[in-house]
Amino acid sequence: MLQNDLNHFGEILQKILEQGVAFLQTIDQRPTSAPHTVKLVTDLEENGKGTAAVLAEFKQRFDPLIVASSGPRSWGFVTGGATPAAVAGDWLAGVYDQNPQAIQGQGDLSALIEVETIQLLLSLFDLPDTFTGGFVTGATMSNFTALAVGRQWAGKQQGRDIAKEGVGKGVKVLSATPHSSAVKSLSMLGLGSQNFIKINTLLGNREAIDVADLEAKIQVLSGEPFILISSGGTVNTVDFDDLEAIARLKEKYNFWWHIDAAFGGFAACSPKYKHLLKGWEGADSITVDCHKWLNVPYESAFFLVKKEHSILQVETFQNSNAPYLGNPLENFSFLNFLPENSRRLRALPAWFTLKAYGKKGYQEIVENSIQMAQLLDDFIQQSSDFELLAPTRLNNVCFTLKGEENQDKVHSFLTQLNQRGKVFMTPTVYNGKKGIRAAFVNWRTLEKDVEIAIAEMKAVLA
Ligand SMILES: *Cc1c(COP(=O)(O)O)cnc(C)c1O
Repeated sequence: MLQNDLNHFGEILQKILEQGVAFLQTIDQRPTSAPHTVKLVTDLEENGKGTAAVLAEFKQRFDPLIVASSGPRSWGFVTGGATPAAVAGDWLAGVYDQNPQAIQGQGDLSALIEVETIQLLLSLFDLPDTFTGGFVTGATMSNFTALAVGRQWAGKQQGRDIAKEGVGKGVKVLSATPHSSAVKSLSMLGLGSQNFIKINTLLGNREAIDVADLEAKIQVLSGEPFILISSGGTVNTVDFDDLEAIARLKEKYNFWWHIDAAFGGFAACSPKYKHLLKGWEGADSITVDCHKWLNVPYESAFFLVKKEHSILQVETFQNSNAPYLGNPLENFSFLNFLPENSRRLRALPAWFTLKAYGKKGYQEIVENSIQMAQLLDDFIQQSSDFELLAPTRLNNVCFTLKGEENQDKVHSFLTQLNQRGKVFMTPTVYNGKKGIRAAFVNWRTLEKDVEIAIAEMKAVLA
């Protein structure tokens, strides 16, 4: 069967191409919630049936489950799409099937593509090359990787080697509105998801750090090193911490500064919104997702860590089988800089899309998303049925049904809206109120999509 597949590989790929193109060209008609479920068939056949027959089975059984999550109206969570170039890079990452690790002397040198891609991303975001970075599966793993190096840094400040000795008495962590994945990272790192010290947020139901309270809490620590997890765009209302003010605190106090800029980092692509990130180059580490606003397929994100911390990073992630590296940057291998050993050429979709559309292309994607959010915001502000829960600061609209008396109807409204399959949004709670989030990061979303969504919202209430 394998040999037969190999002999017909071209025809098989041709079929996959046709099915893929058909899917992508009709994605805006595909439902955003699966209308059916399927029965799972869990016994594996003795004899395989070959790829062509499997493709037919997939199409018949699973295709109905596949939703338009990369289509123009999937606004739940923060759901990106895939640009044509990103799909091309993603397909080729599987076809070429490299394992990027070292950048010299190891046969496979595809790691150089990843190094180049990180440089391109620094250029896109106008960040200095004082950072190194690498690709991981998502912002969760990016937060984990960055915070692991922060943990090693904090230990070293106290004469401990946490990578070798374990977490011991732990490490102090401060944060105001950390993303749930940063909290999950604290749990995975043995620092404890409940152990972070909560900094107050600004008055007016903001999610951003109250810097005066941060400074007061730093002073209570009287010199103990700590990790600060700050936000370059919170997931609910896209509130940005005052990164410039935090950069000034970093000159006075000894801490590891991490910024979770999973999607908010893309504000740097637009001259209009770049100011939100002013000062971010002062951070020790930064998280950015690619499967959100870069519009590459899952699983893709990167981390940035200052080069001055490379020794700490290698202490954290050095594979014990790897030869000891004098200067980790000279004899560089991703193997020693991040959690995984073997990995796919995850940079390739990002490389393709960055080269295909350039800085201008990303400026347009980012500004279009913000404009689409503004259109929905305008409708909500004028509506007698809905109200905003928070001002629309960038690309997320956080709203609810108007009136306290309708709070217990929010859940069923959203369930009905999503079941209709034309648009998908997710629930949230903000400032004690039940609400709904619509996040715009997909390159396909146009004004007509916002109009469809508004018509659907009205239809549910009718
Ligand atoms: C989405 C998101 C994450 C987690 O990202 P995954 O890619 O789902 O792992 C972390 N932080 C922020 C701010 C996010 O928006």
